[in-house]
Parts: sequence; structure tokens; C-alpha cells
Amino acid sequence: MNQENKGSVLIIGGGIAGLCSAYYLLKDGWKVTLLDSGDLKDNCSYGNAGMLVPSHFTPLAAPGIVAQGIKWMFNSKSPFYVKPSLSANLISWGLKFIKHANATHVERSAPSIRDLNLLSSNLYDEIAKADDFAFELQHKGILMLYKTEKMAEEEVHLAETAKSLGLDVEALSRNQVQQLEPHAKLDVLGAVHYRCDGHLYPQALMAQLIAYIKQKGAIIHEHTAVTGFEAKQGKLEAVIAGSKKFSADKFVMTGGAWLPDIAKKAGLRIPLMPGKGYSFMYKPSEHRLEHPSLLVEARVAVTPMNGYIRFGGTMELAALNNKVNMNRVQGIVDAIPHYYPELNVDMPAKKDVWFGFRPCSPDGLPYLGYSKQLKNLIVAGGGGMMGLSLGPAYGKVVSELAKEQQTSADVSLFSPERFA
Ligand SMILES: Cc1cc2nc3c(=O)[nH]c(=O)nc-3n(C[C@H](O)[C@H](O)[C@H](O)COP(=O)(O)OP(=O)(O)OC[C@H]3O[C@@H](n4cnc5c(N)ncnc54)[C@H](O)[C@@H]3O)c2cc1C
Repeated sequence: MNQENKGSVLIIGGGIAGLCSAYYLLKDGWKVTLLDSGDLKDNCSYGNAGMLVPSHFTPLAAPGIVAQGIKWMFNSKSPFYVKPSLSANLISWGLKFIKHANATHVERSAPSIRDLNLLSSNLYDEIAKADDFAFELQHKGILMLYKTEKMAEEEVHLAETAKSLGLDVEALSRNQVQQLEPHAKLDVLGAVHYRCDGHLYPQALMAQLIAYIKQKGAIIHEHTAVTGFEAKQGKLEAVIAGSKKFSADKFVMTGGAWLPDIAKKAGLRIPLMPGKGYSFMYKPSEHRLEHPSLLVEARVAVTPMNGYIRFGGTMELAALNNKVNMNRVQGIVDAIPHYYPELNVDMPAKKDVWFGFRPCSPDGLPYLGYSKQLKNLIVAGGGGMMGLSLGPAYGKVVSELAKEQQTSADVSLFSPERFA
């Protein structure tokens, strides 16, 4: 660990991207201040499905998604929904999304997404070991459970691509997958087992990261929303938060689904749409699950954690709003017995339903790199469905960029101003 003081860094946002940035910057000897508009007890990095997903090398903007999305828009329980709106943001985001939903984009992006996820997965192992963290990190892989021939064909084809990308993955028959889950009956045609994937308990991870960075000297200001910036000659000088002003040598902008609003205040254009998703916890009295899974046709995530099972899903692309749509939660609940017939999961009460906003970029790639416009500003975010998975990679790359070093992963496709 390098304890030499390198200067000061101010981080905006205390989700997984901001906390992991603080973690690695502190290790390098920077003086770290972190601002968050909330109390750091909840954001998208808490109630998610906790999956570490090198398997998600296909960006959200992929062939077929637009047609599928249009079909799902007319079903109130569907897992994917775009709220029709004349909002300029949504229209501009949608046009960019459609432009990128093609095979060439997927082929070009897959190796970079894979590498960033694999880097992150290794870094999670290091964090768990080196700092004595305990956040239920496990590498049992993730099962893509399917019920129909059509999905079997698609998933097995995708698994072949994953293999060609060097990922550890295997297609399993109905009997083989049942053997992996001895305590719960499955009603599926088969599964693809992404052994390269992992899972963890996000609440434990977030709490331990906060405790760690505080103990290492980070100064955290809660309830401190960034409202403006001061810049001079292409460099940021200070961040304004209401009546307060924070100066630093370098700045890291995260902020999850709020990133575009924060960036706009600094004169940058970083397009994102919030993709609202829901989750809830279920305590199984029996029928313990050994592996996390994705119920492929229903797009539901199932993760054993902290003695419970967390069910999560839906992607509602709409302006930020705190409404809980119980129809979509019902869609998640309805899907469960089709795959796990013995799991008797009741509809959760509205108060027990968590929701969060995935920060979704229009091309499905994260934003990670220096701003061209503001030379001492690094941006980290836009991880969409894999933002938790990417956390340590964000942090490591941010710390390498801060000390002007070569990064551990190629981030050339992730420029924060690629749409400017
Ligand atoms: C249902 C669901 C399941 C998911 N499952 C997975 C999964 O299994 N694996 C995976 O990898 N990802 C998953 N995700 C996605 C993942 O949770 C997100 O991509 C990730 O948490 C985003 O992290 P972040 O740090 O970018 O943003 P956030 O965690 O949202 O943090 C942003 C922070 O910025 C703060 N902020 C906002 N505005 C301001 C301001 N003006 N000033 C200061 N601070 C501000 C907010 O208060 C917040 O604390 C899931 C998401 C959902 C909704």
C-alpha cells in the first residue's frame, strides 16, 4: 500500500462506483472526500440481485430487443417496459439505443465488457481476502434456466459465443441441472451454467465498504447534493453543494441514474435513462437453493443471500419516479412456480418491495474515463444491469487514471463523452 499523499480527490455519489473509487484511491494515498445527496443507506447498489456477471458480455442494446420491447409494452406484467413519452431525453436516448441494437455493436463491445467484468470479479476476490471483508462472495456460477425450445436454442447459441470468448460455461440437461439443486424441484427444459459468474450480498458489501473508507480517513458528507461546479481553463476547481463549496485536485463523477443531471451542471452531455427494477426477499422454510439463477423467459433474477432468496426483475425505462407498480411485481411472483414448483412465494406487501434505478446508457456500455472537456474529471457509471459487478473495476481504473497510469483494462470504448 502506498501511503504517500498524492493530493485530494472529491467523489460525487456513494453507490458502488463511488465507494469502490474511494477504496482504491485511499490505498494509493489520496485524501478522499465523498459527497452524496442521500444517507448512504439505500441506492441502486443495495437491493439488486448481487450477481457478478462476466456472462453479461452482450450489451442491452442487442439485436431483437427493440421488437421484443414493443411486444412487452402492451403487457402490464411484462419484465421490460418503456413508458411512451414525448420527453426529448427519452426520444434522443431511444434513437441512440436503436442505432446500437445490432450484431456489429455486440461483436465489437463483447470483449471489452467481458474483460472489465473478469477484472472486477478477480478484484472482488482480492477485496474479500485482503481486508477481511465478509459479504458472502461465492463462485458457484449462475444458472440460466429455460423452459422452451426457442430459449434453449438461443441460450445454447449464446453459450457457444461465451465459450469462444474464453468464458467457463456449460449447457446442462434437465437432469444435470436438477442434480445441482438437490433441495428444490425444478421444472425446466435445461440450463446454461455460467461457472464464470458469482454472487454476493450487496447490503453487507456496501456497509463494509463504507466502514472501511471511513476508517481509512475518507470524509463523507451525507445529504449533500451537488448543485453546481466551478471550472477554469478546462479544469474543475470546485464542486458546489448548496451553500458549500468543495475544492480538490481531481474529481470523480458517479451518481448512478442521476449522472446526466450532475454532468449537465458541469456542461457535459452524458445520456442515460433510469431502468427501474424491483426486488423482494423471501424466507424459504425448506427447498433451499444452492445457486443463483435467471429465469430466462420471465427475466427474473433469483439469488440466495443472507438465509433468504432475493427475487428481482423488470426494467421500466421512464423518467425518475418513486411509484411502485405492483403489477410488475406480480409478474415476478407469477413466474417463480413455473420454474420452482415447490416454492410457494406470496405477493409481498408494497412496503417490502425495494426498487432501484439502473443507470442505462443507450449503447449498453459503461462510462469510464477522463472527461475531454474538464481535464481533471474522471467519470464512472452507466453500468446498467451489471453496475454492481463492475464496482471494483470502476474503482481500480479510476485510481489508475488518477495517477496517470496505464489502466488494467482497455477502456477506450467507454469514453464518457462518446455521445457529445
Ligand atoms: C432489480 C435490480 C437488480 C440488479 N441486479 C444486478 C446484479 O445482479 N448485478 C449487477 O452487477 N448489477 C445489478 N443491478 C444494477 C446495479 O445495481 C447498478 O448498476 C449499480 O448499483 C449502480 O451503481 P452506481 O454507483 O452507479 O449508482 P447508485 O448505486 O445508484 O449510486 C448513486 C449515488 O449517487 C447519489 N447522487 C445522486 N445525485 C447526486 C447529487 N446531485 N449529488 C451527490 N450525490 C448524488 C445517490 O444518492 C446515490 O447514492 C440491478 C439493478 C436492479 C434495479
